[in-house]
Amino acid sequence: MKPSVKNNVFLAICICLLGCSPSTKEKSEPNQKRAYQGPIIDMHLHALEENELSPEPMAMCTPLSTIVQHFDPQNDFGDVFWGKAANPDCENPYWSPVTYEEYVERLSNQVEKYNITAITSGSLPATKKLISHFPDKFIRGIQFRINRDSIPVDSLQSLIETEGLKVLGEISNQYVGIAPNDPKMFPYYALAEEMDVPVLLHMGSGLPGTPLFLNPEYQVAHSNPLLLEEVLKKYPKMRISIAHYGEPFIDELIAMMYHYPQLYVDLGGIQWCYPREYLYQSHLKKMVDAGFGKRIMFGSDMIIWPELIDESIAIINDADFLTYEQKADIFYNNAARFLRLPHD
Ligand SMILES: [Zn+2]
Repeated sequence: MKPSVKNNVFLAICICLLGCSPSTKEKSEPNQKRAYQGPIIDMHLHALEENELSPEPMAMCTPLSTIVQHFDPQNDFGDVFWGKAANPDCENPYWSPVTYEEYVERLSNQVEKYNITAITSGSLPATKKLISHFPDKFIRGIQFRINRDSIPVDSLQSLIETEGLKVLGEISNQYVGIAPNDPKMFPYYALAEEMDVPVLLHMGSGLPGTPLFLNPEYQVAHSNPLLLEEVLKKYPKMRISIAHYGEPFIDELIAMMYHYPQLYVDLGGIQWCYPREYLYQSHLKKMVDAGFGKRIMFGSDMIIWPELIDESIAIINDADFLTYEQKADIFYNNAARFLRLPHD
């Protein structure tokens, strides 16, 4: 397939995780093993336009971190990566839909199976079109990047007032090397605070090797949640969630969640980026053990593989250190509270 098509698909990929937890003694085995059955809010679902779908099926192997396990720099990383997308090594890859109709049908199957409400972000036409297929289920966000999108603050304000824009995000400035505390973002944070519109800010990993082929300006260091401190001091009334939870800077995240109790996070697909045990032990359990289970929200980061939602949900349900109530918080209650929707 053409590199431009690949780029379109993957530029949209911003690759582009529960209650005061009861003590271990209070947790019962049956409760921990029970899969959550209620409605789900997906805080992180991308909307694509028809021309952003690859005309050839593209494979996705999980966990994504193992897709290219080593790389000799005498080769071209893009060639290696796209080679894996065309000829995957894993046994059961996900394959992307090749038509918009197939994309909507496969996504619809997931939405119905799990009773999903989703924040969907993308270009204005992409979100408008996708929401027309899920009018009562999807909430309109916007993919937003300084420089590339160049949406003036007053235009965003009118989109909020007249076009049903409910969420400012996902903001993906990390891909162009703009930090969360760059003063260029201050007018947008001020707007979000003034209009009480939640902000979803990408801070975390992109595709493996992102700076080597798709986004040379991508800055790993901008995943660090400590970069939000000035912003949270300056805009204390702003509702903000870190999309991808600033991984892998988990200790910095915990320090920020402790000192700034308004700060939420969403899992943003990181659950399928790394092997489960790493996610469980090094990130998710750590966040819950630190006492922040009420501010972790589910996010699939579904882009072009709808069945990744199946896997994303199963990974949380399979976490045997979580109680049923903690799963309910991650899958629904925390996002409902953050978005000010009805919740327990
Ligand atoms: Zn993202």
